Amino acid sequence: MIYSNNKNILGRILIVDDSRENLNLLAESLTNSGYLPIKAENLETARAQAEYSSPDLILLDIFLPGMEGNHFFKHLKSNPKTFEIPIIFMSSLQEVFEKIKALPVGSFDYINKPFNIEEIVTRIENQLAFKRQKMQLTREIERRQHVEEILCESRALLASVLNSSPDGIAAFKAVRDRWGKIAYFRCVVANPVVAQLIGQPANSLVGQRLLKSMIDQIDSNLFDQLVRVVETGETWNQELHLERLNLPQHWYQITAVKNGEGFAVTIRDISERKEWEMLLNQTSQNLYQQAISDPLTQVANRRAFDHYLQQEWNRSKRDKLPLSLILADIDYFKNYNDRYGHQAGDRCLRKIAQAIKEAVKRPADFVARYGGEEFAIILPNTEIEGAKQVAELIRSEIHQLQIPHGDSSVCEYVTLSLGVTSQVPQAEDLCEILISKADAALYEAKKQGRDRIVEG
Ligand code: GH3
Ligand code: MG
Ligand code: MG
Repeated sequence: MIYSNNKNILGRILIVDDSRENLNLLAESLTNSGYLPIKAENLETARAQAEYSSPDLILLDIFLPGMEGNHFFKHLKSNPKTFEIPIIFMSSLQEVFEKIKALPVGSFDYINKPFNIEEIVTRIENQLAFKRQKMQLTREIERRQHVEEILCESRALLASVLNSSPDGIAAFKAVRDRWGKIAYFRCVVANPVVAQLIGQPANSLVGQRLLKSMIDQIDSNLFDQLVRVVETGETWNQELHLERLNLPQHWYQITAVKNGEGFAVTIRDISERKEWEMLLNQTSQNLYQQAISDPLTQVANRRAFDHYLQQEWNRSKRDKLPLSLILADIDYFKNYNDRYGHQAGDRCLRKIAQAIKEAVKRPADFVARYGGEEFAIILPNTEIEGAKQVAELIRSEIHQLQIPHGDSSVCEYVTLSLGVTSQVPQAEDLCEILISKADAALYEAKKQGRDRIVEG
């Protein structure tokens, strides 16, 4: 039988026997059992076939002319191309087998002649099964070695990433109590930066417990946050200013992500960025202050007044609430400057601004320098009576300052004239109406003799 498809062959069997009758009988029987027999009548052919036909097994008659079978056996075992091939000896002499058994090499079996073909097939199957198992085992060992190598490489890679990172990197496993609640965390890996951050020798952290009490020293909510990361899979990210434990006082950005039955954490020193941020905040805060305040008196400037008045006008219109405005002007201030000098005039302006600020009490009340020696006070949600009381308080506070004014016609001290107005803004009204009413009232106060309050 000729096999065209190798898959159907159970194995290639080289039969070495000087008896042609035996050879043919065996070949036919093996063919019938699904094997591909390769016949060799002498040792020369046998050697060539063993080397170049890649048999899976050799059936060897031990008494062959020219060379003894066991010499051929030794030859096969010393050749790298053939030493793995299993051999089954065939002989009619028991002592021959005793000799073969004493040989130190390889897998082999032996069969007494005259043989039984079923027994031969069984022995062949056994040897081939053994060979297959051996090959599988070899492949498995090779595969495991390969996996081990990959594992070693990736461990080395991981170690170099962890060791060279400027960030702290660590992983923790959650340890649960018998009710399933996370009791604490155990360190699985931590790079040198983490060890340095908490003042411990590198490699000493792995296996250590991270208890709630330790985490709470950093931040009282941190343990619960980390539990949440593990239980929900939500990432936790926070900037912390750490100043307890052994940590240097720096800003750190800490990110924890769920990692299996625990979490992985990265700790980045962001102190430099934070410093810049704070500087920037401070600078923009300063710039904002400069943009809205009057440099001489430190109260709000005219631009801030316009903005605030419009805002409160709109709010009062919407809420149907009264909005009051006081305009205050220093009496005979030109004379004051002329008499005491411009610098004294500036000092006087500062004192008056401060006194007005102290006289208004509510957080929403707003004092601004409206012009040269004029101040404006916006009083949201204030009826005219309340506004007049505030104006009176301001007038008397200025009196109490007792800033001498030798060139005033109304008083020996610096005084103010005040125009007060109040209204609930109507839909069609603009906020300028409030200014012009207060201004008219102020004009009236001047006209009536100064150092007084007039309602407009
Ligand atoms: P009246 O009682 O009618 O208000 O008279 P007045 O002199 O106060 O009013 P007038 O408008 O004639 O003069 C205001 C003066 O305020 C003129 C100016 O020299 C002075 N003044 C305005 N701004 C400043 C300032 O920033 N510093 C100083 N020192 N004086 C200022
Ligand atoms: Mg004026
Ligand atoms: Mg004036």
